[in-house]
Amino acid sequence: MSIIIKSEREIALMRQAGRIVAVVLDILSREVKPGMRTKELDVIAAGEVEKLGAKPSFKGYRGFPANLCVSVNDEVVHGIPGERILQEGDIVSLDLGAMYMGFHGDGAVTVGVGEIDLKAKELMETTEGALKAGIAAAHSGARLGDISAAIQGYAEGKGYSVVREYTGHGIGREMHEEPQIPNFGPAGTGPVLEKGMALALEPMVNAGGWRTRVGDDHWTVLTADGSLSAHFEHTIAIAGEEAEVLTAREGVYA
Ligand code: MG
Repeated sequence: MSIIIKSEREIALMRQAGRIVAVVLDILSREVKPGMRTKELDVIAAGEVEKLGAKPSFKGYRGFPANLCVSVNDEVVHGIPGERILQEGDIVSLDLGAMYMGFHGDGAVTVGVGEIDLKAKELMETTEGALKAGIAAAHSGARLGDISAAIQGYAEGKGYSVVREYTGHGIGREMHEEPQIPNFGPAGTGPVLEKGMALALEPMVNAGGWRTRVGDDHWTVLTADGSLSAHFEHTIAIAGEEAEVLTAREGVYA
């Protein structure tokens, strides 16, 4: 398998898919409140994605039962929305994929529920900063490992750890395409980035150690040591000096 180079027309469609993800994540971020059940977010996600003419990408993917991944506190990724009630002070990661005209967009944000403490805020800021560092490294002519090293360097430089068992990925007609994009590893290694590559970068950053375990539902990934975890993701297209962020909505949460 090799990395698929997208045409201008294909990137234009991915821009639409990405914008839908951004708009719906923004709506969901505003809806998060203490006392709400996580399944309510799933219902909103499905409704808003469909209203915008797209299909939720995750539903049924390898049997995943929901439209949105909702991962709370020590849950890293792949949390299944359900009866859990969000509490003041929780942090909740929302991961959404949408398919529009045959192309996927994929993005994630972590938001606080009501007032959150400084430690949680710093973890979230660091994770978003790691994502930005990865995006800044993603220019044409750079190597894939430069992205991984930028993410790891940023997060570890602030005293946090990056999850190693789950990675970012290529994206396009398939939600997961080549290459895998680890959130750690040496710069100057891996394939050379070229204009037209579309990549989903998604650092998962833990307050404690990097190890994870899978919960009893066989989906939810949790930190092994019970520490807090945050997750931010953007779908980007390699352009020239600067990557284009396809899931950004200006002034919202980019
Ligand atoms: Mg992803």
